[in-house]
Amino acid sequence: MPLENIQYDAIMREYGRRQLLSRHRLEEHRAHAQERIPRLKEIQDAIASASAQQIHSLLGGEKAGSTAVYREKVEALARERTQLLTENGFPPDYLEAAYECPACRDTGYVNGQKCTCFHKLAADQFRQQYSLDQILERENFALFSFSCYSDKIKDDNTGKTPLEHAQFAVEKAREFIGHFGEAGQNLFIYGDTGVGKTFLSHCIAHEILKKAYSVLYFPAYDLFGLLAKETFGKKDGGDALGHILNCDLLIIDDLGTELTNTFVSSQLFQIINERILHDRSTVISSNLALETFPELYSTRTFSRIIQNYKFINLIGEDIRIR
Ligand SMILES: [Zn+2]
Repeated sequence: MPLENIQYDAIMREYGRRQLLSRHRLEEHRAHAQERIPRLKEIQDAIASASAQQIHSLLGGEKAGSTAVYREKVEALARERTQLLTENGFPPDYLEAAYECPACRDTGYVNGQKCTCFHKLAADQFRQQYSLDQILERENFALFSFSCYSDKIKDDNTGKTPLEHAQFAVEKAREFIGHFGEAGQNLFIYGDTGVGKTFLSHCIAHEILKKAYSVLYFPAYDLFGLLAKETFGKKDGGDALGHILNCDLLIIDDLGTELTNTFVSSQLFQIINERILHDRSTVISSNLALETFPELYSTRTFSRIIQNYKFINLIGEDIRIR
């Protein structure tokens, strides 16, 4: 789903709420500290008046030298304030505004660009829309069951049982989660329908969300449908592609179930390539036979995946296994 205006408004309201909260917190701190240390009130007033004088002198065109006097005065007062605070057992930054995101000071933007926290809030919005929260409650590692995988039969190609494949898959997924955020890592989970690929990708989403990263999860069909709507539709204001390229973790589930065409193929390349270039992690699950991939999408996409993704093969009991 593109970020509709209504969601954009909800995000900006959230920033408003955060700013208000930090202002309240600062006022509470101020009142509390000034009650204990009355001198702090005088310092606050003196800083306000020196700052005002500095602005006046700047507006009045006074030379840089005279504004420096005021600046030094403010700095000396601030030093005294910090000293008083620490002497009285307060943290030195007790009277500074505490933002939830210091990078953008809870405005959502840094130098006109969306802050990482904005993408995280946008991902929250997407998640609510897909009811992913409820799904993740049901599908996580605590509920992952190895008993669904046989240890009696062996795969022709690997000589391993479905259980061994599943154990390897969970181990790789846990490694992925453990190292998340250190560098871009990518997983390509493949296998037939009904062997647990989606379940495993939900488990991964669940753990990464718990680490407070932004995660976007899309069934492939929805992902390309959304991008087509944004590209060919008349609607503007959406920035779905921006969020898809910028979120910390992108999960594309069931690649191969969408209608493939040149648009899909070029979008997929752009998404995979850009995310690799910017060290952002992607998890793709697919029930395609790997050898059909280059033909269905493109050789350049497939070679990017081969070079940059770890492959996890999940298998179940099907006709190819004896
Ligand atoms: Zn921010």
